[in-house]
Amino acid sequence: MKKLNNYIGGEFINPFSDNYIENINPATGKVFSLIADSDENDVNLAVEAAKVAFPEWSSKGAEYRSKWLLKLANYIEENVEKFAQAETQDNGKPISLSCTMDIPRAVQNLSFFATAILHDKDEAHHTSTNILNYTLRQPLGVVGCISPWNLPLYLFTWKIAPALASGNCVVAKPSELTPYTAYLLSEACQAINFPNGVLNIVHGYGHQAGAAITAHKDTKAISFTGGTQTGKTIASIAAPMFKKLSLELGGKNATIIFADSDLEEAIETAVKAAFTNQGQICLCGSRILIEKVIYEEFKIKFIEKVKELKVGDPLEKNTQQGATVSKAHQEKVLSYIEIAKNEGGIILTGGNKVASENLPNRCKDGFFIEPTVIEGLSPFCRTNQEEIFGAVTTLIPFENENEAIEFANCTPYGLSASVWTQNLSRAHRVASQLETGIVWINTWLLRDLRTPFGGAKQSGVGREGGYEALNFFTEEKNVCIKF
Ligand code: NAD
Repeated sequence: MKKLNNYIGGEFINPFSDNYIENINPATGKVFSLIADSDENDVNLAVEAAKVAFPEWSSKGAEYRSKWLLKLANYIEENVEKFAQAETQDNGKPISLSCTMDIPRAVQNLSFFATAILHDKDEAHHTSTNILNYTLRQPLGVVGCISPWNLPLYLFTWKIAPALASGNCVVAKPSELTPYTAYLLSEACQAINFPNGVLNIVHGYGHQAGAAITAHKDTKAISFTGGTQTGKTIASIAAPMFKKLSLELGGKNATIIFADSDLEEAIETAVKAAFTNQGQICLCGSRILIEKVIYEEFKIKFIEKVKELKVGDPLEKNTQQGATVSKAHQEKVLSYIEIAKNEGGIILTGGNKVASENLPNRCKDGFFIEPTVIEGLSPFCRTNQEEIFGAVTTLIPFENENEAIEFANCTPYGLSASVWTQNLSRAHRVASQLETGIVWINTWLLRDLRTPFGGAKQSGVGREGGYEALNFFTEEKNVCIKF
């Protein structure tokens, strides 16, 4: 069986432990590859390789780094099909999504930062006629990037691209649930002769390999995307070491539908917002707040659309809902449906595992869940407060604008919101009062990579994207000259 080994200093290396973790295809429930079970010995080796590579990589200049990152982007683009197949096999997401979103976005992440650094400029301040201040932005050295399983290569490259573009060398760890495309990326590095040691990829469990990256004295910054609890653990280790920290964490996002919205479009997008990637996107709208006067109409039409979603083999081109990422996660999501019932929730559609007779043979042991819609719950109950991160959404009526804002803001999270109204003044008013890092008006998941991306409250600390990301991976130094 294929072994996914660590990529360190330009070479594929067995883990010190010689142990491997089974990698399961969530659509079939079958093991299909083995992942290096790395520990601090492997991380130490990777950090040493990165330290050796740093002087040359950081000093060669933006054009040199841009050229290499574009080569990497081109390689992925030329092999989209291979990467997309691997992403779907690893994660269970529909192949249409891997082909049109995940892998193209990974290409875009690399090319975006590769070209952004060609247009960078430094700040200068003339303090008086004979005094000039200017700001140097210098790479940090070796940085750690740790990413989750829901958008594997998409989020992996979202971190490593700005880190590398700004001149750092990287030790990165993909999720142990979805390591395959990061492994293919290391193969890509070898195929194009990417400079050795600049990007090092260590596989394994978070509490072991991830924790070792966080705790290593020579990783100067940690860029982490994942759960809020893990974020707390990482912060508790990295903060006392005064590392730079970027934490992109969980969400419990509201889709807010006012009576004056374009209802057809709002419904179509609310379905996508709730269920794309089986509801496993941090930005998914898992609470739909609906103005009372249109609640019944919205509910009937929304349920109709949800029932039309085609759940099935993620390798089929027309599948819209694939498998949940793992058995453990499937159980977690199903346990929340039980919690919702106990809290008085009414299941309007879904609520169960997909019955094996409704799945093709190949997928009978896969981890599928019916897209689930629940109503009748208080906005303050557990179902509406805690992140479920699956194909489950709730419908909550509201009386007026103030109540919509109160309900939207009433969770510990603050990642994103999607507001639907034709009233421009209201759109601005509501956007400014939502306690989130991102607000979409009459749309969802429309991304411009130049914009700041991140969460408020327990959804994270710091912002990624554009110059925010490049600044995060650099140390600013003010130089003051008197002449
Ligand atoms: P997770 O926190 O379990 O794991 C994320 C990564 O951290 C994995 O690579 C894991 O191995 C590693 N890790 C785990 N424990 C660690 C430790 N102690 N030290 C260092 N690394 C450790 O999250 P997940 O289940 O993979 O992802 C789902 C979560 O990610 C959800 O909460 C989701 O909302 C969040 N997410 C947030 C964003 C965002 O941009 N805000 C984007 C995607 C996903």
